[in-house]
Amino acid sequence: MKILLMGPPGAGKGSQSERLVKDFDLTSISTGEMFREAYKNGEPLGIEAMKYIERGELVDDDITNEIVCKRLLRKDAERCFLLDGYPRTVKQAEALDDMLEKMNSRLTAVINITVDKVAILERMIGRRVCKRCSATYHLSFKPTKVDGICDKCGGELYQREDDQLESVRNRLNIYETKTNPLINYYDNRGILRNVDGMQSFNAVYEDIKHALEDIT
Ligand code: ADP
Ligand code: AMP
Repeated sequence: MKILLMGPPGAGKGSQSERLVKDFDLTSISTGEMFREAYKNGEPLGIEAMKYIERGELVDDDITNEIVCKRLLRKDAERCFLLDGYPRTVKQAEALDDMLEKMNSRLTAVINITVDKVAILERMIGRRVCKRCSATYHLSFKPTKVDGICDKCGGELYQREDDQLESVRNRLNIYETKTNPLINYYDNRGILRNVDGMQSFNAVYEDIKHALEDIT
């Protein structure tokens, strides 16, 4: 299975991918996570990427395509992977097609999680992430047992710089203009399924599983 999870920022891609990766034994490839990790480790790539991320802008296509290309060439991405947050532009989608073609491979399913704008804002403003293991929580919809502390590893939670209101607005505008066109791009190939992301975590997960069964 070579799956792409799409949807606006805050739709629940990361939350759903945490479960999908475990249950289907997939290699998770999240460009946002790769950039944040590189920043945490003080790598030049991460420092460069964070300049865009903090403002709610997209990281340069060439930089992003290059890190994905390197990641896809690793052994663990050969058989099954789940892409989350990439591609985000038509240029990236075309680059991904080229990369996969060279590997004699292709995407098998694209799941598009749909959520309305009010819910997106609520979800992003209340999102909290573990500094240590990157697990994602929400102040109201998925609170931790102890305030501010990760249930899984005991790490401290923080609010992402790009989850501040100004940055969130910017990200939503960019999503509409640059990423939304990819829905048609993949729908035309017959491999896209929409899933209603306005439901509970579990209901969204079940719908994704059904959609995957339908396509693969
Ligand atoms: P994305 O990866 O698409 O940006 P996340 O998975 O990080 O989105 O989810 C954004 C926020 O919304 C998180 O705080 C998460 O806990 C919360 N969330 C995700 N899915 C749901 C859902 N179905 N119902 C309520 N809150 C959700
Ligand atoms: P995410 O974790 O998917 O919400 O991504 C966080 C931020 O990382 C985005 O708002 C962008 O600034 C950057 N980013 C992640 N993936 C990409 C991508 N495919 N192309 C460009 N920028 C990206």
